[in-house]
Amino acid sequence: MNPWLILVLVGAAIALALWIPRFRLQRALAAPFPAEWVGILERNIGIYRNLPMPLRLELRQMIKQFLHQKHFSGAAGLQVTDEMRVTIAAQACMLQLNRNSDLYPRLRYIIIYPSAFIVSRSEMDDAGLVSHGRKGLLGESWQSGKVILAWDNVLNGARNFVDGRNVVLHEFAHQLDSESGSANGAPLLAGASSYRSWAGALSDEFEDLQKDARVGRRSLMDHYGATNPAEFFAVATETFFEKPRRMARHHEELFEVLMSYYRIDPREWQHAP
Ligand SMILES: [Zn+2]
Repeated sequence: MNPWLILVLVGAAIALALWIPRFRLQRALAAPFPAEWVGILERNIGIYRNLPMPLRLELRQMIKQFLHQKHFSGAAGLQVTDEMRVTIAAQACMLQLNRNSDLYPRLRYIIIYPSAFIVSRSEMDDAGLVSHGRKGLLGESWQSGKVILAWDNVLNGARNFVDGRNVVLHEFAHQLDSESGSANGAPLLAGASSYRSWAGALSDEFEDLQKDARVGRRSLMDHYGATNPAEFFAVATETFFEKPRRMARHHEELFEVLMSYYRIDPREWQHAP
């Protein structure tokens, strides 16, 4: 065969391979958002009706993209429904509103258990002692492109959007964190000055939370955030979205840094207590 013809055919095949996924995504985004999905959002996402209409419309587009790109599967006999897919996608996408970035490019799979799932783990304490055990988890985020969630907890967290606990926001904050290459409490930021203000605000607050946890003092953020910087970012994200007024009042610098990262102000959606 003529080598020029082979070159043209290979070029055409590459162009097609690049074009098809984009075409499929455009087609998914152009499809109307199903009325049943709006019902799911209104029923399950406690904050949805408070969102201004432009954000609701943006969220719906992102949900379509998320559901088009990510694969859901059930574990322990669970049958995945549209209610589960839309409820999880909506909360994951809330972290990306106004950010105009790819939707979790490394994430491929979301695995859903009916409720808390048991894992076997080895852990090392501060003294270097390694212990092995089994424990129940409500959610887990893997850097290899996987998030695991317990559906009953997802639903409770979605419906109650004011208690500061939300397993989907938590696990997807870990996904954002790991986009920088390692899950260390610092996601991808715009520049060196952003990293400086990020580190300044988060490290002081992290130390304060560690002190609170050590002496058993009540704090706005869950003591679980004192575990390490990655958990601190995930817990701070839950608090930012679900208790924004109190966070802005008592942790002003941290709130400002998170607001410039997430590019939204959740105080506008939460009614005054
Ligand atoms: Zn975590």
